[in-house]
Amino acid sequence: MTLFGVVFGAVLFMVVVGEWLGLFGSLTKRVPWLFWLAVIVAGGWPVLAEVVKATVRRRVTSHTLMTIGMLAAIAVGEWPAAVIVVFFMRVGEYVEGFTAEQARRAVKDLTAMAPQTARVERDGAEVEIPVAEVKAGETVVVRPGEKIPVDGEVTAGQATVDQATITGESMPVEAGPGARVFAATIARLGSLRIRAMKVGEDTTFGRVVKLVEEAEANRGDVQRFADRFSGYYLPVVMGVALFTYLLSRNPLATAAVLVVVCSCSFALATPLAMIASIGAAARRGLLIKGGKYLEALSRADVLLLDKTGTLTLGSPQITDVLPLEGFTVDEVLAFAASAERYSEHPLAEAVREAAKAHNLHLGEPAGFEAVPGIGVRAWVNDRLIEVGSSRVISKSEYIPELGNFEAQGKTTLYVVCDGKPAGMLAASDTLRPEVPEALAEMERLGVRRIELLTGDNERTAASLAESLGLQYRANLLPEDKIAVVKEYQAKGHMVVMVGDGVNDAPALAQADVGIAMGAAGSDVSIEAAHVALMREDWTLVPELFRIARRTMRVVRLNLIFTGCYNLVGLSLAALGLLPLTLAAALQSLPDLGILSNSARLLRLRESSIVTEKRHDNN
Ligand code: ADP
Ligand code: MG
Repeated sequence: MTLFGVVFGAVLFMVVVGEWLGLFGSLTKRVPWLFWLAVIVAGGWPVLAEVVKATVRRRVTSHTLMTIGMLAAIAVGEWPAAVIVVFFMRVGEYVEGFTAEQARRAVKDLTAMAPQTARVERDGAEVEIPVAEVKAGETVVVRPGEKIPVDGEVTAGQATVDQATITGESMPVEAGPGARVFAATIARLGSLRIRAMKVGEDTTFGRVVKLVEEAEANRGDVQRFADRFSGYYLPVVMGVALFTYLLSRNPLATAAVLVVVCSCSFALATPLAMIASIGAAARRGLLIKGGKYLEALSRADVLLLDKTGTLTLGSPQITDVLPLEGFTVDEVLAFAASAERYSEHPLAEAVREAAKAHNLHLGEPAGFEAVPGIGVRAWVNDRLIEVGSSRVISKSEYIPELGNFEAQGKTTLYVVCDGKPAGMLAASDTLRPEVPEALAEMERLGVRRIELLTGDNERTAASLAESLGLQYRANLLPEDKIAVVKEYQAKGHMVVMVGDGVNDAPALAQADVGIAMGAAGSDVSIEAAHVALMREDWTLVPELFRIARRTMRVVRLNLIFTGCYNLVGLSLAALGLLPLTLAAALQSLPDLGILSNSARLLRLRESSIVTEKRHDNN
């Protein structure tokens, strides 16, 4: 809209309002109608063309009603009023664009944090190039205070890295040779040489930005709402307009009824708040993939938890190795570690570590097979080795109860060699320290049932569940976990599941909201979950629930506000108390109200738990 258009519209508006108030005679009556028509066509064609296009496709846009109002004004020869309606249609379009732009600010702030250039080593010299030109495998040099441009592994140097961009955690971490570092994090003190593993959109940061943009662009829900809404709302407004006309025989009051309702505000009320929250949350290490998950979280009443890697730190230690008759400790450990060589499971890592501590030589497994929720199977030196839960032992076989691991809350792994039990390993894992407080907080937030679902054995599960005061189910296969989720859903519950995103991906997907823990650096987890927590920190879970509740409170307020505004406007217009020109002017105001209300969500308050923890650290 040009400056000329703005001035012309504003002056005309004042003149018409002045005429209505009787301040001066009818100036505008002296202007020929052809002039007004020209103004309407010249100034209004972008919005009018859109309305025509939409109407042809049998759609109703936020401007449809206003266009009908404008036509009504023209029909009774009120050309200046028609021009003013068009003027405010353009203003409204502007306000809408501005509003959307503001809501996207959080997303923009996020993209602005992306690294732009990288210093790579090429032919012995350091050259600065755009990030997009870095290739995987190249060595990147990062100096103190600089942004790390790629996801990669530190090959030399030492630095404290501020990972707040990814994890939201302001405490920097130490990174030395072998450490994994992420693009868009900052090397505060010290320099690093990094072997690039992932670049640009493939980095964890790149994925986060892409998913937040997708969540933002995903207007599916909004569109559906707007369609359903016009289905109900439009007939009501038309009905009121018809009544107004029949009772008053005043076409201008009728036109005002059509013009005053701001149908687009209803469509904005929900997405604006959600976009603001999603953007702000992403900067705090919470990646929420869509507004509908915020809504589901705000109504969730059942929380299901995975054990290994979720409630526990996921870095278990092998505490005992018990060989059975005919096998040695080292044999059992070497078999197990060789079979586990390529498994991603935290327990596999523990077994490999233990073998390393015993300086054992590992065999190369053939035909490796991981059975989710049970264990692994592989050929090692022509022997079939199976490692895993009691399910790898067939029922007929007799395993003497050696020791009392399970009562101590340890996980027992059975090692089977060519179908014959060879020994047992006991692994203990540590509960994440912030879990009890976070679970108590969840209960305070209204989650009525919290249940532990695990593939581990009954006694280990019981010991952990008891210490946390939770319900539990043990010996579950991945498909059993899905069945539990479905069981709750069938009873009408809104189910949230927290898991590690790798083993639990199917159950996470089945839940109304699946939350993956510690997703930074794990593509699988980021893809699998509806919400990905970028750092392994349970305080983020109640935080997420609070964000969801706040967002829905703002949404409700937006809807109530718009509803009341429309109701008052509609009543005044129907009673003939609101002139058409004022009606047009009033209709873009609620957008601004919704905007300022939703913008509060851009500044998310620090959670009380996080703040307390920070104080403890000092
Ligand atoms: P949770 O449900 O507690 O996260 P999982 O479903 O990942 O546990 O695994 C369940 C059980 O299956 C474990 O307690 C372990 O006994 C066995 N298991 C699964 N994967 C492996 C593996 N790679 N090596 C050894 N045992 C495994
Ligand atoms: Mg698990």
